[in-house]
Amino acid sequence: MSAKLIDGKAFADGLIKRVGVAVSKLNNRYNFKPGLAVVLVGENPASEVYVKNKILQTEKSGMVSIEHRLPETTSEKELLALVKSLNEDDKIDGILVQLPLPKHINENAVINSISPSKDVDGFSIPNVGLLSTSGEGLIPCTPLGCLLLLQDHLGDLTGKNAVIIGRSNIVGKPMAQLLIKANCTVTITHSKTKNLEGECKKADILVAAIGSPLFVKKEWVKNGAVVLDVGINRLPPEGDKKGRLVGDVDFENVIEIASAITPVPGGVGPMTIACLLRNTVTASCKRRNINEPEM
Ligand code: NAD
Repeated sequence: MSAKLIDGKAFADGLIKRVGVAVSKLNNRYNFKPGLAVVLVGENPASEVYVKNKILQTEKSGMVSIEHRLPETTSEKELLALVKSLNEDDKIDGILVQLPLPKHINENAVINSISPSKDVDGFSIPNVGLLSTSGEGLIPCTPLGCLLLLQDHLGDLTGKNAVIIGRSNIVGKPMAQLLIKANCTVTITHSKTKNLEGECKKADILVAAIGSPLFVKKEWVKNGAVVLDVGINRLPPEGDKKGRLVGDVDFENVIEIASAITPVPGGVGPMTIACLLRNTVTASCKRRNINEPEM
């Protein structure tokens, strides 16, 4: 069998268009444009690329985009003061502080200083709590993107065995909560899991979020499983071959056994930005107590 490619780029492009339509409806009906503030501290090259992309897409979808670039030497106190002013700014509906932050700043303190109603990354404790109690909070963008791709591909997920590799607060844990909510039987595996291959082999849905290139092997994947590859790893150049981006899944071999798989790049990555825009529209409507247009 050769797997069907799950085209996250195409799905994300469609979602961004629908977000754009929702933004213009809100502007026509209520005379406002949702606003997203992105804060970048320091000069991490990967973060620079992510932030540039987020700003570009925010503007393309007709929203207001505000960018704050702060030097590496910014103190935690200064960053907390900026977040406070954004919390109080009525034009701002979403606040995204790009991670990782420089080592001298406590990430949790900053994340939890963002007003939960503007926390479009969904990482603050109230939103994590709402997700795990099936409430209506803001949902972390990458797992939300994975869920949308899975539902688009498989429809109802009820009763599926889902196995997640990775237990981070950003991907693994919220992914598990979303799949439990979608009636899957969920296993979270991690670096201390004893029989990782055996656990993966049980998966109808396998989500890899490890940060280790080509880690998941064909032999670990059940025939016909749907595989989502969250990993983004840059391989160094080899001989005359250029350095390239790869996921956490040994794509070239796993594609022979899976029924569907996301490529890297062009799979889960574009969904993260699309869901950030969607979350910003959601946040803007909730804050104003108005119905969210369909997206
Ligand atoms: P993380 O480092 O916080 O977590 C990695 C997880 O992998 C940990 O829970 C760890 O227990 C597990 N792990 C590590 N080694 C393992 C092993 N040998 N066996 C089993 N599990 C192991 O990383 P993260 O933030 O969750 O990100 C994971 C990957 O996803 C990274 O490559 C990251 O760049 C990528 N990512 C992509 C997007 C996107 O938009 N596509 C968003 C976030 C993260």
